[in-house]
Amino acid sequence: MRFTVPTKGHTDFVNITEEAKRCVRESGVQEGVAVIFVEGSTVALTTMEDEEGIKEDLQSMLEKVAPENFDYEHHKRWGDRNGAAHIRSALIGTSTVVPIEERALKLGTWQDIFLIDFDEKPRTREVHVTCISATSQ
Ligand code: ZN
Repeated sequence: MRFTVPTKGHTDFVNITEEAKRCVRESGVQEGVAVIFVEGSTVALTTMEDEEGIKEDLQSMLEKVAPENFDYEHHKRWGDRNGAAHIRSALIGTSTVVPIEERALKLGTWQDIFLIDFDEKPRTREVHVTCISATSQ
């Protein structure tokens, strides 16, 4: 199952929890795991609390680890300016796995699924939700 997410780029946080939950309900899987994956090398997918302070903190941490304004080898070789986006995507990753129990995602109370787009321009991202049953049906 898949859905698309329009983003603004430049570390755009998009809460995709409800779409992921809908995919799990529609899959019919009772018990198992959901693999939630976003296509792209300048975007990331992870779980975090939907709280503005955390978004600011994560953004400033990433700016220390992979600053926007840096002379990346990628810029010389490829001629674009999104080296920071590639590094941030690689560090956070592009997928997460969440258990499915009683046909629902077993997330923590404050744990939401976020897509974070680091690219320099608006994008339309493709998110895949693969639900795997742990029992024979
Ligand atoms: Zn690039």
